[in-house]
Amino acid sequence: MPESTPAPYEQLQRRLLAIDGAGYKAYKAVEGRYTLPGFELSIDHVQGDPFADPSRCSLRIGRESLPLPAALQHSAAQRVALEDFFGRRLSSAMQHHRGQVRGSGNSGEIRMARYGQQVLRRNAVLAHPQQLEVRCQLGLPANGRRVAARQALRLLEELVQLVAASLLPLDTYLPALEQHLRSVLDQQHLRAQLEAHQLVAFIADGAILPRASGIDDRPLEGAVPWRSPDSLAVELELRDGSPIRGLGIVTGVSLIVGGGFHGKSTLLHALERGVYDHIPGDGRERVVTDPSAVKIRAEDGRSVRQVDISPFIGELPGGRSTHCFDSDNASGSTSQAANLIEALATGCRCLLLDEDTCATNFMIRDRRMQALVSDACEPITPLVQRVAALAAEGVSVVLVMGGSGDFFAAAGRVIMMDHYSPRDLSARAQALADPDTLRCSVERPPIGAAAARVRPLRAPSLVRREKVRAFGTRLLRLGSEEVDLARVEQLVDEGQLLSIGYLLQAYAAATQGTMAEAGPGLVEQLRELLERTESDGLDPLTPFVQGVLAMPRLQELAAALNRLRSLEGC
Ligand code: ADP
Ligand code: MG
Repeated sequence: MPESTPAPYEQLQRRLLAIDGAGYKAYKAVEGRYTLPGFELSIDHVQGDPFADPSRCSLRIGRESLPLPAALQHSAAQRVALEDFFGRRLSSAMQHHRGQVRGSGNSGEIRMARYGQQVLRRNAVLAHPQQLEVRCQLGLPANGRRVAARQALRLLEELVQLVAASLLPLDTYLPALEQHLRSVLDQQHLRAQLEAHQLVAFIADGAILPRASGIDDRPLEGAVPWRSPDSLAVELELRDGSPIRGLGIVTGVSLIVGGGFHGKSTLLHALERGVYDHIPGDGRERVVTDPSAVKIRAEDGRSVRQVDISPFIGELPGGRSTHCFDSDNASGSTSQAANLIEALATGCRCLLLDEDTCATNFMIRDRRMQALVSDACEPITPLVQRVAALAAEGVSVVLVMGGSGDFFAAAGRVIMMDHYSPRDLSARAQALADPDTLRCSVERPPIGAAAARVRPLRAPSLVRREKVRAFGTRLLRLGSEEVDLARVEQLVDEGQLLSIGYLLQAYAAATQGTMAEAGPGLVEQLRELLERTESDGLDPLTPFVQGVLAMPRLQELAAALNRLRSLEGC
């Protein structure tokens, strides 16, 4: 786009009045850049009719009106936190905007990306050296299908007021901005200390883990704050060097036990989310997890392509091999095995499992069942018999298990959740442990070695680059293909699904539809794609800039690829 100087606001106002009452398409005439009070407005793409997606606009707010202290703008991490802060301020103002403008379709709407509890890299707001760029959508007002110019003028006034009220004056929220940045950088600092302390997770004292409800990710009011018992406590430090005490989950195998409804799953959920940074006040802003950690669960019905699940599952009925397992409708145990192997292929060093969402026969097989159904009739070697091998291969396991003591013998630590507070039952569980439960009854191959994909795969349909749509964090639609991601639990934002969709299309295009080389090539290529996106930003992923993308992790990008039903074996 050629850089021209923006036109004055009056020109936009005149252009609007000139098309008052004309057919809706006449709005095209106002595409362009204008100087409004407090910012520059660029109307990038006018919607085709009042019922279509609102018109794409961007706002550029000069740094002279946002005189940010230079100390806030050094690193890439600071920039992401800064963009997040301004983005969520504007987004929440737009969500609460109840303007006077009425009309057909989405007349009068002011929208942008929505922000959850996590701080993610997005392309809704970009902090440039000289300006803050904000992407939003405006519903240009109509009466029926005719331009309603006076309503449009009012909408612009509302936008001016909204921006002024949210962003100026800076001194009223500068302390909150500084706290936001400090908190995000502290989380990254804490996460970076995990490895040196041989930890896979850290939960600071005072953290609030439970959420307001199953559909509301904000903290539960009146919750019991986290308090680590001395025997499980470690001390990490914040960026300013001050110490912070909390419970450290050490590498190896850790069990979370306790009675029903005592807070076990809540703890595990917090660990799942600990791979992301959270906003101050979330309650989990000092809960950090190994960034490669993956929640592993059963996912019956998922499609699996050419995954070696033989470390867990031997020959299936009918003589089906599991070295190169394929299914359009995997069972609980085979889907869980595939999830685990695929996670390891992405470099995952920590597996998170909850009995609530595991296939029991993938987890344990007790003596009485072994007596009734002989090993020869059971293809599954349960996790309890392989967990020591996993730990020996350097993969930690954090497992919620209130219903069986079979894992005691493998567990380095046993944390009991008791009325929402952790207690150390490691020694007691050790005394009760039966080493026999871990004994592997059949010879099984090493687990990590199976993690590479067995054969190359193709997804020719993706090369066509059809429309990408996301429905919450549950479903990604690529043209006519649907990718069910409802049980990929560490996706937190619709924008991540959209990015994944575009990334998969880019990957398919670059490889002419050959999606997955055999061996570690696949993950390496996906990793490179993400690294390129990290450095070039999210904008190049889409044919036109929308401002609704958010950065996914490698683990979820691979998970989406692995669930494509159009994948074909070569
Ligand atoms: P479990 O997995 O042990 O059966 P959950 O983790 O599902 O239990 O928790 C049961 C209920 O207790 C949930 O509604 C959860 O929100 C609530 N809860 C969890 N932790 C706390 C806490 N620290 N304070 C108050 N309520 C909590
Ligand atoms: Mg539970």
